Amino acid sequence: MTFNVNEEGFYGAFGGAFIPEMLYPNIETLRSNYLNIIQSDSFQTEYQYLLKQYVGRPTPLYFAERLSNEFKAKIYLKREDLCHTGAHKVNNTIGQILIAKKLGKKRIIAETGAGQHGVATATVCALMGLNCIVYMGSVDIERQAPNVARMKMLGAEVRPATSGSQTLKDATNEAIRDWIANPADTHYIIGSVVGPHPYPDMVTRLQAIISEEIRWQLKEQTGKETPDAVIACVGGGSNAAGAYYHFLEEEKTRLIAVEAAGHGIDSGESAATSVLGSKGIIHGSRTLLMQDEDGQIIEPYSISAGLDYPGIGPLHAHLIRSKRAEAISITDQEAIDAAFHLSRIEGIIPALETAHAFAALHKMKFNQDDCLVINLSGRGDKDLGTYQKFMK
Ligand SMILES: *Cc1c(COP(=O)(O)O)cnc(C)c1O
Repeated sequence: MTFNVNEEGFYGAFGGAFIPEMLYPNIETLRSNYLNIIQSDSFQTEYQYLLKQYVGRPTPLYFAERLSNEFKAKIYLKREDLCHTGAHKVNNTIGQILIAKKLGKKRIIAETGAGQHGVATATVCALMGLNCIVYMGSVDIERQAPNVARMKMLGAEVRPATSGSQTLKDATNEAIRDWIANPADTHYIIGSVVGPHPYPDMVTRLQAIISEEIRWQLKEQTGKETPDAVIACVGGGSNAAGAYYHFLEEEKTRLIAVEAAGHGIDSGESAATSVLGSKGIIHGSRTLLMQDEDGQIIEPYSISAGLDYPGIGPLHAHLIRSKRAEAISITDQEAIDAAFHLSRIEGIIPALETAHAFAALHKMKFNQDDCLVINLSGRGDKDLGTYQKFMK
């Protein structure tokens, strides 16, 4: 079985490009150019330079000794929280802005939920001197005020999406509408491994630097390149895709995908797409998504705005349905507990999204002394307001 995308943009039964005709020229330009650009020397030279000197890569692979003792395993943390702007998202935006420049684009649009992708996009637009417009649901604009301020500070325009639940899915719809209206000069930087082909594959390749580094860092520290498991939280799935990529063909490395169960899988307020979802089309891709009998999207819920999405990337739908990856779902409360625990046992405050991955340690079975890598996708500064509500 292969886990790479095929010519038509499918991972098994999932993926493809189900888009309105008006979007064809944009998507086709991207599809026929992205691999050549990514593989070119001039792209790689600039991308690798910026990852090193601007983003701060390689990020450390840290052996968490106290956490390891507690769980009787060898637990390594991939410190994406130490990337410039505080999460893995910038690996992708740096790559996409270089691709946009090669395609001669002058104007950048993006969607954002928690604001992390919006900040990472506004950052690289400032870096390259390009115009930046970020679509964000009005509800999210209100609950993520610090990130809205960061985007504005960086010179981006934040446009509210006022339809539907006024969150991430609605912001994505607005961004797609903008792209249809401005095909010639605009590139749309999607923030996860979602959307029509080639986005899931393009974003996966740009995040794959995470597992590329994990391999040599593990080898350096343990003598062995492959861990027994890689654990990552999944919203759309970009940090997980990057952490899995160079282990996809290593059958002995378990891939653990951690989703948000919100108030509980059966509570009606959840974002556990792989359990509750069924095959359907969202934002140009055939994948698993939460929908009712009429195909209407069921509004997702998670305490963490970054996991609050009704679908998952087609790669993850394929990995989970083919049993290459195991899905685990974590409630709000379990994630909060894990965030407090990690802060106090290792001195690292994780993002709320990331805290879900740590909570999964309690739900996994593994052997004593197994080597586990947890992708620490982002830092928790943006979530202190939420954490404060749970302090005693
Ligand atoms: C955005 C975000 C996520 C969720 O997005 P993925 O595409 O699933 O990685 C997870 N963690 C952090 C810190 C984020 O900012």
